[in-house]
Amino acid sequence: MSVLSEEACDLLVIGSGAGGLSAAVAAAWHGLEVIVVEKEPVFGGTTAWSGGWMWVPRNPLAQEAGIAEDQQTIRTYLRHELGNHYEEARISAFLAAAPEMVAFFRQHTAVQFIDGNKIPDMHGNTPGAAQGGRSVCAAPYDGRELGPLAGKLRPPLPEISLLGMGIASGADFAHFLNAARSWKSFAHVTRRIGRHALDLALQGRGAQLVNGNALAARLLKSADDLGVDLRAQAPARRLLSRDGVVTGAAVEQDGQEIRIRARVGVVLACGGFPHDYERLKQLVPHNPEGRAHWSAAPSTNTGDGLRLGESVGALVDARLAAPCAWAPVSLVPRKDGSFGHFPHLAERAKPGLIAVTADGRRFVNEADSYYDYVDALLKAIPAGAEPISWLICDHRFQRRYGLGFAKPAPLPLAPYIASGYLKRGKTLSELAHNCGIDRDGLAETVARYNKTAAHGRDPQFHRGETPYNRMGGDATVKPNPSVAPIERGPFYAVRIVPGSLGTFAGLKTDARANVLDAEGRTIPGLFAVGADMASIMGGTYPAGGINLGPAMTFGYVVGRDAARKFKSEKARARS
Ligand SMILES: Cc1cc2nc3c(=O)[nH]c(=O)nc-3n(C[C@H](O)[C@H](O)[C@H](O)COP(=O)(O)OP(=O)(O)OC[C@H]3O[C@@H](n4cnc5c(N)ncnc54)[C@H](O)[C@@H]3O)c2cc1C
Repeated sequence: MSVLSEEACDLLVIGSGAGGLSAAVAAAWHGLEVIVVEKEPVFGGTTAWSGGWMWVPRNPLAQEAGIAEDQQTIRTYLRHELGNHYEEARISAFLAAAPEMVAFFRQHTAVQFIDGNKIPDMHGNTPGAAQGGRSVCAAPYDGRELGPLAGKLRPPLPEISLLGMGIASGADFAHFLNAARSWKSFAHVTRRIGRHALDLALQGRGAQLVNGNALAARLLKSADDLGVDLRAQAPARRLLSRDGVVTGAAVEQDGQEIRIRARVGVVLACGGFPHDYERLKQLVPHNPEGRAHWSAAPSTNTGDGLRLGESVGALVDARLAAPCAWAPVSLVPRKDGSFGHFPHLAERAKPGLIAVTADGRRFVNEADSYYDYVDALLKAIPAGAEPISWLICDHRFQRRYGLGFAKPAPLPLAPYIASGYLKRGKTLSELAHNCGIDRDGLAETVARYNKTAAHGRDPQFHRGETPYNRMGGDATVKPNPSVAPIERGPFYAVRIVPGSLGTFAGLKTDARANVLDAEGRTIPGLFAVGADMASIMGGTYPAGGINLGPAMTFGYVVGRDAARKFKSEKARARS
């Protein structure tokens, strides 16, 4: 490949998800010249497909609502959750900078937030767990504000949007579930769909952006406002270094190589390795061939950042509790013969659903987190067996809440059954037969579950006993919003495979996101953020938002500190 040109900037950011764009925006606001290179034709990465929730304890929105907590309680929670993986320096840096990050973006950029003051931590029985106030989400955004950049934003994940329209978690989602039962919800849904149809007609794409799509859009807009040079279809191929200092990267653009020199440094923000089959083979235990892991992250996140880091001596920290942010996934047949990866984040806590393995037995509190579900599945499956499970419900449940990609009433069931995605049986025995589940095992399991479910209890796995379970349930169902019997056929099932929302193992860094080598020394000029940085949660999943909260925070820290360093070096050179 011929070298087209040499260019220079202060900070070169590789990857345009939350980690990369947060660094770019913070650095540009502090006066640096920033280039962001993105491999894909669209910006936003996994972030644009995500829920957009960020775990940010002591954030300004919670404080303004009067939720005051000391850092000690948060540390207590993290110490219990992370165990041996608790790293004092990086956790302290995160807890100090995360609220500052939210304040910075709110005050100076287009990134605005809504509060998570009613969203509990995942493990309510762990000391120090909060009932709310530790998270924020990107506020919904009118995509028309992006102007010509709108076409450059990664659209929402097709499997979890409706005709390309994202549905926001919380009240919006509840309205969609209730559209066939409440006039208010029906009116809300009609308004949303009507506006979406108009946007499609006028702009060719939806403009009511929510959750992670709103976060990516707001970051993109902020970067553009601050003059960040945003380049799509520009994959970084190699890092450039001199005397052990990273000085830039070789980037491919229009089939030619451009060498971009970065005066302060290079930020690796390529979104981890959810589709790097070689590394998955090494690190994911159930996955000896490398292909038996179905991440919901974009297939183009192929571990480039980790490999770029390793090429200059960086260390990938794989000694985490888990290498990936586990999530149960079902495979949705697409028209072109491929399969979409549907992450099951919403319906498992609703009342009237259980999960079983091929022997027909339950193995988990299904209302617990997506991470806990897969963690339990991998532990329940005998070594060497395929880690498969099934979500099981009755007709009432499916029509009321939907089951994975198979939407609730009034949308018809026939297409999901015809495609083989949704399995159906008039009886439990027929369903078991259609899925290859042990019939007696399933019959016994459902009978045992139903016996106490009628009274809202689940003595076997304790569904509905934590605030997190109850939040995901149905508040109208009493006495337990997460428990109801599975009674009248037809019955339905969806096959679940182990997947993830992204990866946890990543480049080892210090508390300022400087990349470290095998001896623990910093590699000058190289930073890693987002999923390219080994998770500060040590491979555990204590709360929703533990990917994006640290991604945004350490991105902000890198941008801010890079600018400070640059200015002080310049001042020293002048004096
Ligand atoms: C459905 C879903 C819901 C989720 N919800 C949440 C949530 O609510 N809260 C939470 O904390 N986490 C959530 N996650 C996880 C979270 O989205 C990711 O951990 C996070 O977005 C990763 O951010 P990032 O900046 O590291 O990478 P990404 O957002 O993936 O961005 C990386 C970018 O780098 C680009 N890139 C890769 N290689 C190169 C290269 N060589 N050169 C240039 N560019 C390159 C990629 O194309 C991509 O655009 C969710 C994930 C999914 C799939």
